[in-house]
Amino acid sequence: MIGSTGRATARGLRPRRLPAMARRLGPRRLPAAAVAVLAAGLLQAGGASAWAAGPPSPDPGVGVEEEGAEPSGEDCDAGTDAAGDSALAVTAITADRVARHPARKYAGFARDDRVSIPRQDEANTRQRYLDVEYALPAGVELTCVRVDLLDTTPRSGRTVLQTVTEAAPTADGGEGVRSVGRDRLKVRVTFDEQHPSKLRAKPAQVTRVGYRVSLIGEDQDGTVVAARKDSADFFPLWRLPAGLDRYGPRDDKTGGDDWCSSFTHGWLSSATGRALLPRVNDISGEHARNLGHQTHLTGDDIDAFHPYRFSGVDAGAAGSGGRNYARLVAATRAAMDGDADGLGQVKEWAETTRTRLAQLIDDGNVVRMYYAAGSAVKGDARFTAGWASALLRTGVYAYTDAKKEARELDLGIGEWSRIGNKVITARDFRPDHNDHLHVTLSETRRR
Ligand SMILES: [Zn+2]
Repeated sequence: MIGSTGRATARGLRPRRLPAMARRLGPRRLPAAAVAVLAAGLLQAGGASAWAAGPPSPDPGVGVEEEGAEPSGEDCDAGTDAAGDSALAVTAITADRVARHPARKYAGFARDDRVSIPRQDEANTRQRYLDVEYALPAGVELTCVRVDLLDTTPRSGRTVLQTVTEAAPTADGGEGVRSVGRDRLKVRVTFDEQHPSKLRAKPAQVTRVGYRVSLIGEDQDGTVVAARKDSADFFPLWRLPAGLDRYGPRDDKTGGDDWCSSFTHGWLSSATGRALLPRVNDISGEHARNLGHQTHLTGDDIDAFHPYRFSGVDAGAAGSGGRNYARLVAATRAAMDGDADGLGQVKEWAETTRTRLAQLIDDGNVVRMYYAAGSAVKGDARFTAGWASALLRTGVYAYTDAKKEARELDLGIGEWSRIGNKVITARDFRPDHNDHLHVTLSETRRR
């Protein structure tokens, strides 16, 4: 039931109007009994053991849930003793769906269990919401809803990272809590401009997050009742570490394209990561929104600029990946025409690329790579699919010249010593990666 003031009220309740600015239910508003409970709650605030839950689940579909109402000490929250026999309860918490990619071929590639956490003092571009179902006893009015972002990393103690939303439910959800019917709420759990992130947590150390939803109500006697429940776990995504070079088009207006998993954030922050992938493009969209890939949904796929940059190519400029590939085509053509300088450039490309790929293979956290196969070139029949990977992997490209004679372009560098590796195999050289290197990381190291 939606009251005429726009506030949701429970059935049979006296209408009560809060001033618009009185979002917080301050202690002075509470009856003495509730204040006593609140004070008791303060003693537990911040104490990890007060919130200690069962074993954390790495499976985001099976989160740790807590029922009942423990005091937390903040002014929107309240104690349970006063409401020991209250039937106020959060009965279900369901995550919303991240918008699917409009193209059919990508629509099925989606995750809803990733949530982007902006840098300190920044906001999300797109907001995420939890659907909260609850049971409201007769005579109780829901006065306040609060969502705390929890660190649910295994062995973290489930500490509160930040209160994200704290507001009375309204019909329009202006402050982040919208009433949907009598027993459902839609609650914002991400950061908007008015409620930016204040997190100081180190991204690499927070590998799971969850949301604690607290409901505060008041019965007809003015007694405060409360209930809370934790959501299932989410995997946090973090902005690319500062200071890395980018290339390719940016997606800033639609939430960005550089969201990293906790592990990837740590890896890219390390000297090793920066040296191996100094210039990157897509990682993941905000909340793992699909940017037009069949991968890139977990913050662990990184598109990087070619290991070898041809002279004169501005790697930071738009289209630089394609231009660098075009230079490889031109140098290879010159080499096939007998030009020594062209041959030297292709050789340098192959050797530099082999070295970098080997370094990435030897970093046990790289589990997959894709790179250029080389495609047919319009107007020059000597180029057939796979020419670039043949040069890279074997050092030799066999082709048919204009006189239909079999020829070979031999770089004189022999076969790649790592040709049998499992991280970038023959089929991982693909025509859709002619213009960039794709690297997939896993926090579980390869054996
Ligand atoms: Zn990619």
